[in-house]
Parts: sequence; C-alpha cells; structure tokens
Amino acid sequence: MKKKKMNRLFVTALCFTMFILLLGGCEQKKSDKESDKIPETTADNVSAQKYKTGTYTAEAEGKEGLIKVEVTFSDTKITDIQIISQSETEGLGDDALDTIKEKVLEGQTLAVDAVSGATESSDGLLAAIEDAVKQADGNVDELKTNTVKKEGEGQVEKLSAEVVVIGAGASGVSAAVTAADKGAKVIIIEKTAVIGGASNLSWAGKFYNSSAAVENGLKVEVEKEIADWIANNHWRVDAAAIRQYVTKSGETYDWLEEKGYQTTFLNFNGEQLHVLPAYDTRQEILKNMLKDSVEQGGGQVLTETTGKKLLANEAGDVVGVSAEKADGTTVEITAESVVLATGGYAANAEMVKEYFGFEGVNGGLGQNVGEGLEMAWEAGAKIPDNMGGQMLHQTLARATAALKKEFNSFQASYPLISAYLPNFMNVGPSGARFRDEAATLTAVAAANTSAFNGSYHLVIISKHQLDLLAQKGMSGINVPQLPGMPPEFYSDFADQFTLDTPWTDAEKVFDAMAANGDGYKGDTIEELAANAGVDVDIFTAEYNNYIEAIKTGVDTEFGKSADYLFPMGEEGPYYAIIAEINNLGSVGGLLVNTEFEVLNDERVPIKGLYAVGLESEGVLFNDTYVGNGVGIGYSFTSGRLGGESAALNALDNK
Ligand SMILES: Cc1cc2nc3c(=O)[nH]c(=O)nc-3n(C[C@H](O)[C@H](O)[C@H](O)COP(=O)(O)OP(=O)(O)OC[C@H]3O[C@@H](n4cnc5c(N)ncnc54)[C@H](O)[C@@H]3O)c2cc1C
Repeated sequence: MKKKKMNRLFVTALCFTMFILLLGGCEQKKSDKESDKIPETTADNVSAQKYKTGTYTAEAEGKEGLIKVEVTFSDTKITDIQIISQSETEGLGDDALDTIKEKVLEGQTLAVDAVSGATESSDGLLAAIEDAVKQADGNVDELKTNTVKKEGEGQVEKLSAEVVVIGAGASGVSAAVTAADKGAKVIIIEKTAVIGGASNLSWAGKFYNSSAAVENGLKVEVEKEIADWIANNHWRVDAAAIRQYVTKSGETYDWLEEKGYQTTFLNFNGEQLHVLPAYDTRQEILKNMLKDSVEQGGGQVLTETTGKKLLANEAGDVVGVSAEKADGTTVEITAESVVLATGGYAANAEMVKEYFGFEGVNGGLGQNVGEGLEMAWEAGAKIPDNMGGQMLHQTLARATAALKKEFNSFQASYPLISAYLPNFMNVGPSGARFRDEAATLTAVAAANTSAFNGSYHLVIISKHQLDLLAQKGMSGINVPQLPGMPPEFYSDFADQFTLDTPWTDAEKVFDAMAANGDGYKGDTIEELAANAGVDVDIFTAEYNNYIEAIKTGVDTEFGKSADYLFPMGEEGPYYAIIAEINNLGSVGGLLVNTEFEVLNDERVPIKGLYAVGLESEGVLFNDTYVGNGVGIGYSFTSGRLGGESAALNALDNK
C-alpha cells in the first residue's frame, strides 16, 4: 500500500529550492561571445511569430541575484541572446543559463524545462527573455506552447558494464572509483551536469581516528563511541553498520588523500572533523578521480542521465538500469552489480512531510526527489521502520536574502545571528515558548528542537536589547561566546563576527525585516502577537512568565541558566524574527548489510543491488540525524566500501 502511495507522490510538483549559500555568488560574468547564427529550429509546432526588430534589454531575479540579458529579434525570430551579467553559482547555475539560452534559440520557444538542480537560475533567465519578448511585441503565450520534440525520443541505446553506479555525489563517485580500481568496468550516471552532489556544498567530514587526527593527538575511544552511539539512538540502529563506520572511516581519510581529495584536520571542540578542499576545486578533483579510475578502466561517466527503473531478471535479481538522457534517449545499461547513490528525497516536500512531518526549508539538492528509493522499492527493497530521518542541522532567518539587497552581509545577518543566541525568548507558531534557548548553542539541537515544534519559530527581541547590540555588539547583552552558527554562514564577514562589533543600524535592519514581511514588529507585546498571527493570550502569558524568570533568575519552565535571561526593557517596539530549519538531506530509505547489499522485506539481500550514501544511512540513526560530519564521512566511506563489494560480486559472477 505504501508503495502505491509513493507512486502517487512522485507525480506531484517537486520543490527545487537548492541551497547554495556556502558557495556564494560568483563574480559578474563577461558578456557572451555567441555567434549570431540561428540554429535550425526543431520545434514541433512552432507558429509564426512577429517581432519588432531590434535588441532589447531585460532582467529578472535568478538564484543568486539579477540576470541581465540583451535579446535580439528579427521580424520573425529570436536571433541572439546575450547574458550581460549574472552571479549564479559557478559550475551549476551559470552552466544552466547556457543550456537554457541554447534551447530557447534552437526551439524558438519559451516552453523549456528548467535544468535539474538549477531551477531558479533557469526560471530567472526564462523570465528575463520573456520580458524582452514582450518589449518586442512577441506573443509570449504562443512561445510558451511551442513544444520542442526531444531529439532522442524513441531511441534506445544499449550499454553494458560490470558495475553501474547511479548518482555521482560523494558516495557514488567513491563507489565508482573503488569498483574500477578493483578491476571492474564501471558506468556511472548522474542526473545533472555536476559531479559531487551535496559534498560540493559541505564544510567538513568525520573520519574516525584518521592518521591526521591521531597525529594531532586526538584519539577517540572506539568501543565507548560505538556503545554511546547505539544507546543514544535507543538501540534501534544497526550495530554492525555503526562499528564499520567508526572503525573504517579513518582509512577513508588516507584513501581520499591518495586520490588527491585533501582534507584538513580540525579539532572541533573535541570532535575529529576534516575540512573539505576549497569549494571551487572539489568538483575538478572528483572528476579527475573518475577519469583516472573509471575512464582509464574502460568505463564511462554519463552526466545529465537520469536513472528511471532497475532492470531485473525472472528471479528478481537486479541486472541493470534503464535511464534517460537529456535529449530523451533511453539508455539501457546491463551490469552484474547496480549501486544506488541517488541521495534521497529531501526535495520531495510531500515525502518529507509524510515520513517526518517536517515542513521547513529544503536546503538539500533540488534534484533529490527519491527516484532511487522508488526504483529500489519497486525491485523489492524493504521500507525501513525509521524511514523518515532528516538531516536538520541549520537554522535560517527568513529575512537574510532580502536584507542582503539593502545592507552589507554582516548587517543582513543580524536576524540570523540572533536565531543562534541563547539570550532571546523563542516561541513556536502558537506563541508558546518551547525550549531552553541554550539549545541554540548547538546547531543540531537548535534545528531539531525547533522542527519538532512546527515549521518555524519566532525569536523575540526588544528595542532595549537592539539598542545595546547597536552600542556594544553581542557583549552588550552578555553573550558569553560566539554563536554556534555553521562557519560558512559568517565566512564573508568573519572579521566582524566578534562579540564586541557593534550592530550598527540594528533598528533600521529589523524595521526593514518587518517591512519585507520576513518578521514582525509591534509597539506592545500584544500588538506584536497580533501582527505575528500567534495566539495573543498564549503569547502574553508566556511573555509574562519569561519576564518573571528574568526577574528572579529562575526559569521554572525550561531551566534556562540565569546567564542567558537578559532583560527585555520596559518599552517597545518589540520584534519577532521568523526562524526556519534547513533540511540538508533525507537520511535512509533502504536497509543494507555491511556489504552494502540492499535488503528485501525478509532482510535478505536482493542480488545485484547495492546502496551507499544517504539512502543507506538510516542504518546509523534511529529517527533522525545527529552527527557532525557524519554525512560526508559516511558517504565517502560507504561509497568506498560499497563499490568494492559491488566489484567483487560482479567479477565473481562473470
Ligand atoms: C548545504 C549542505 C551542507 C552540508 N554540510 C555538511 C557538512 O559540513 N558535513 C557533513 O558531514 N555533511 C554535510 N552535508 C551533508 C552531506 O553533504 C551529504 O550527507 C552527502 O554529501 C551525501 O552524499 P550522497 O552521495 O549520499 O548524496 P548526494 O550528494 O545527494 O548525491 C546524490 C547524487 O545523485 C544524483 N541523482 C539523484 N537522482 C538521480 C537519478 N534518478 N539518476 C541519476 N542521478 C541521480 C544527484 O544529482 C546527486 O548528484 C551538507 C549538505 C548540504 C546540502
């Protein structure tokens, strides 16, 4: 029954809100140097258009800022599109712009699908072109119905390999590389044009007792770590899988070093983290790893190729995958072993709600909509009991993006920083306080306590507090230590991210937040409650309790330390920041054994089917993800080990 439901879910609209904050925008790009030649149209039903000849300038908002174009029209055609400036993410958004531009010119159409994983960039460019079409008196409605037949539709290409890997994130690349190094012919397919998946956006990974950690004098006591992990997850985890990760991930560090993917050890408050290579170098390193192992070994890397269905023989063994290329060609790849590494379903809002009840922000990859899981379930894989785990690891302030257009990064981040400070009162959507706000000091505790209480929470801050922040920075309200924000959130204002830097123009920033609709303001507590749409009685009562706790230094509701109970002052205005939780990925969906073979309902391996990375990571966690750096550490480790198993199986069965 569940599977039927899943099929229904897969036809729903998908939320493609990829979070690329870490990479930041890239520099303004130079103008295009495309020739004026118009490709022959392949549109099916292109109807004659009439334009006012000329070149028109237009712009629209992309993912990271404005996309400006100059579009040239003859009396019947769009003859040229020049992208004058844009700041989309390098290697993803900017590539998508080129793809969309070519498709519009080639098909003389605006009915172009967004590039997977770069929806906002694609839509931004299409909107700018649409504006230019309007200026040229073109018929936008008609252009939007000019469908272009995909060149490869109806064609089938047959390939064979010993191991096929679906998905080229950290886990898929590692699996493909180790399988090839073991001597298997490998084909790896990837839905987007990008190699590296979410690892390209990540900060650091955990490789237990890596040679670097040990050299730096930080050693984890393995048996205690494993025992604590199991107990902290209420024993509802796979003890063998945890042991394998804790004892084998250190080797992954050395393996990555050898392959040229160099990480830097960091003692992160006693945790063994390894900071990943510079953001703009990672994809290239992973591509080189694939070149040196997979391609050198006679295999192939097929990007913009989406896995659609697993191929099975009569016995139910998995024997390959059917995929679709961007031009519509079906590719059937047969293989002895198939490794799923498709990264889960965090971008499928309905699935996330169904399995976890979470309705916050998807900060994971927009293209990860659960296709890999769907394929595996159809092939008989078990849907595990702890299906719903998510990687809730970041708190966001809704205000940040709009404020960045008016203020510098530090100022635009005042609401965000406030969401990580223990000194303010936090309430859920009803207006009720829901936690000791000291939870904000630990990113994962902050995210999970909030998500359990609704799709957002409000951080309450008074003018009195803002005035002190404006005068003396965080020290003005006795903040004892820098907030536990992910480092990438403050990387572009690191020099101002100190306890003593005054929050200049704090009131202006918070007024702008309220004016933009990303927070609320009220002259009184009652007015704030009414403006914020929370229950006025609940909020007022909670506020009065909180004031009492500040006065007495004793928080009878949640036990917050008196150190964080900072006075609100006697007068308004008061502000409420809308804080939301960012889901970095879904965790789990398939059960695997320590060979990374996917298990069926009887917990017996389905022959030929392997899973690595996020979709197999539910073996490590009970109901949700709690580890710092485990996402990356496990993806590389499970890929490295799973790829070896898949290769051994393939070579044994030849
Ligand atoms: C913004 C952000 C920051 C993070 N920071 C950290 C951090 O600091 N430390 C940490 O440990 N973890 C972090 N994580 C989590 C970590 O990045 C992931 O756990 C890990 O990278 C997942 O790797 P994966 O290979 O399982 O999946 P992914 O990286 O999601 O790769 C899956 C790949 O499969 C492709 N794909 C999807 N469907 C198909 C299909 N049908 N056919 C073909 N290909 C398909 C996708 O395009 C993608 O390339 C972060 C995640 C995000 C989003």
